[in-house]
Amino acid sequence: MCGIVGYLGNKQAFPILIKGLHRLEYRGYDSAGVALVNNNGELNVYKTKGKVKNLEDYCTDKDISGTVGIAHTRWATHGEPSDANAHPHYSQTKNLALIHNGIIENYLTLKKFLISKGYTFKSETDTEVLVQLIEYVKTEHKLSLYDAVHQALTQVIGAYAIGIIERNNPNVLVAARKSSPLILGIGDNEFFLGSDASPIIEYTNKVIYLNDEEIVKIERNKEVEIRNLKNVVLKPEIKEIEMNLEDIEKGGFPHFMLKEIFEQPKSLNLCMNGRLQKELNEIKLSGITDFGDKFEKANRILISACGTSWHAGLIGKYLFESFCHKPVSVEVASEFRYRNPVIYSNDVLIPISQSGETADTLAAIKLAKDKGAFIYGICNVVGSSISRMTDSGTYTHAGPEIGVASTKAFTTQVAVLIMTALSLAKRMNTIEDSQYKKIVSSLAKIPEQIQEILDNKEQIENISKIFTYAKNFLYLGRGYNYPVAMEGALKLKEISYIHAEGYPAAEMKHGPIALIDEEMPIVVVAPHYSTYEKILSNIEEVKARKGRIIAIVSKGDTEIKKIADYCIEVPTTEECLSPLLTVIPLQLLSYYIAVAKGRNVDQPRNLAKSVTVE
Ligand code: GLU
Repeated sequence: MCGIVGYLGNKQAFPILIKGLHRLEYRGYDSAGVALVNNNGELNVYKTKGKVKNLEDYCTDKDISGTVGIAHTRWATHGEPSDANAHPHYSQTKNLALIHNGIIENYLTLKKFLISKGYTFKSETDTEVLVQLIEYVKTEHKLSLYDAVHQALTQVIGAYAIGIIERNNPNVLVAARKSSPLILGIGDNEFFLGSDASPIIEYTNKVIYLNDEEIVKIERNKEVEIRNLKNVVLKPEIKEIEMNLEDIEKGGFPHFMLKEIFEQPKSLNLCMNGRLQKELNEIKLSGITDFGDKFEKANRILISACGTSWHAGLIGKYLFESFCHKPVSVEVASEFRYRNPVIYSNDVLIPISQSGETADTLAAIKLAKDKGAFIYGICNVVGSSISRMTDSGTYTHAGPEIGVASTKAFTTQVAVLIMTALSLAKRMNTIEDSQYKKIVSSLAKIPEQIQEILDNKEQIENISKIFTYAKNFLYLGRGYNYPVAMEGALKLKEISYIHAEGYPAAEMKHGPIALIDEEMPIVVVAPHYSTYEKILSNIEEVKARKGRIIAIVSKGDTEIKKIADYCIEVPTTEECLSPLLTVIPLQLLSYYIAVAKGRNVDQPRNLAKSVTVE
């Protein structure tokens, strides 16, 4: 939620900041702003409601000079999207300007205190309190900016990634983080700040990942200084990131989402590379080789995630229970963390998150860690908070996912869960060797089978155009494809704003069947596996009530084709791998419906990419 960028160096900061904001715009886009200190030591703040483009237009006649600056693209938590609530926020004297990602939970108490000291507020945000508090502490105790930020943050409860600059001091930028992501890029006599690496990699691949409760002082022509809230001075650890510019640009596609849907054969190959060993027909996952005993000893596995990652987790339950014979509980992280769950010290928790920064999932990890559970993370972003908090885990290696509606992150998460369950089952001898080999060789074929489905995009696009009228959709599936039905419904809701529900097909009779009439589109995920006959009956039940059926079927299906209004074929594979194929037409269906309805696919209303606030 919300993107932050910062620059201090020899170049003009504005173009770098604006480019950075565009790259981070997927994180929030209700307002944007920039602050710069110019050569005369003036601190200029420009901010406006709307997208980054609005900010650029707004700035055309402004003084945008300066070689130090900070910028922000907002996803509002406190106060509506407006010019006043946009970041950066000035302090009372306009000597400081600050950007913030996160939530200051005790902002009302702090605000009351500051009002009693004569401070006035121009916005409804929690953020403005922070910049005022820093100014108050700075003047009251006559501190440097670095010391004042440190002092102020000891009084703050909540989550923050901040950047702050000062009038008359173009040589210093101070930043800090707690529970919100922040990366520092180190160039040649220049420094960059970013919520993720995308605004940085064009200039340098050397980065420092700030840890929770760390504050950094960036000073012109000096080494960076880092200390934590306990005032311990820390040695900056510089890492190299592997990411290139191409990965974060649209590459000829009209939207990031479509690009990412089409990238899935490649991202799955990257995800399985070195892990699925084709010559040996085996899977080698270092996490399981090194820590498989933790799973073996565990009485059960907990999976905690949010949104699309939670759907992947539900597929994980089917996998671990059927292949490893371990009970699995799949938990929505925001519920899990607050309901006092029973966690045993020999539980294994698998948190799943694309960004590795999802606030509720991070909290679930902390909770399970405190109870002594072993944490095995699945995330995409290398160096993210989750990857640094877990005991072990597997990266999905999907490459940067920028479209707000998650696609390639989902399929790679499912692929990692498949590889984890299979290598664990092999290790524990809970799977027949022949079955194991059969699944592994089928898994190797998945990328090319996905390509086959993608090549059929016109059929899906044509079907999509028919259903733009719909106000509601029902998605049905059974077994491994029940979570796929839920994922299909979520995709449609997110980007087309059509209400949709995903349901276990047989559960339909316990309520949703009442919704069906001749207007109602029902997407049935019905490939030819163990519950085929059952779902065929469910389709008949829908048909008898005149629902309009779009069925996802196995190649060569004849039965469903006789009943359904539209059939989209997917190649055949092993049942446990089928979600990797059946989800693809659902992604395309939601994409094309949203485009036909003129929606902003990459930046759907009210949403943001990584949910770093609760
Ligand atoms: N809480 C701040 C606001 O509402 C920052 C929100 C964010 O992280 O996007 O402005």
